[in-house]
Amino acid sequence: MKKIAIDMDDVICDGGYLSLINKFLNTNYTVKDINGYYMQDLVPREKFKQWNEFFKTQNLYDYVEFLPDAYNVIKELNKYYEIYVLTAYVLKDIPEFSGKFLEQKYNWLYKNLPFLDPNKYIFTTNKDIIKCDIKIDDKISNLNGIVETKILFSAYHNQNVKKEELEEQEIIWVNNWKEIKNILI
Ligand SMILES: [Mg+2]
Repeated sequence: MKKIAIDMDDVICDGGYLSLINKFLNTNYTVKDINGYYMQDLVPREKFKQWNEFFKTQNLYDYVEFLPDAYNVIKELNKYYEIYVLTAYVLKDIPEFSGKFLEQKYNWLYKNLPFLDPNKYIFTTNKDIIKCDIKIDDKISNLNGIVETKILFSAYHNQNVKKEELEEQEIIWVNNWKEIKNILI
């Protein structure tokens, strides 16, 4: 069986960060308001310390939702492939909270994707050390490494990726899980 490594945030589920930021700031930001990769840049500098303290009192994964079709397509892929979830958990601004964050991630995956083997969760920021047949991620640099098929999942922060860059690195762009199903099944 071929091995697929699937990223979690903004590929399997999303919405958590933005919900927490809106809850904290009492705002209605949408993904269109985000510039760059880090959503926490929406938080004004002077409130950043408070934001980090607030974050530590919350479970981000109480606020996420599956991306459309993610659950069904992953369940189907599970029949034909060995599925790994490959996700980073170290929080750059609050590394001391990362252990708790890892627990939140683990619990969400365990509860919401019960057909996956928890032994196949891989928690690391250094995704390029993982060798697999197929990798699906929304961050282009995470697709590096020894991978046969690289799939870039469309997300708020990668809309300006150039076609040439994708071609050069032999990356397949997808907009949604239906497209992944068409490619892989
Ligand atoms: Mg991601």
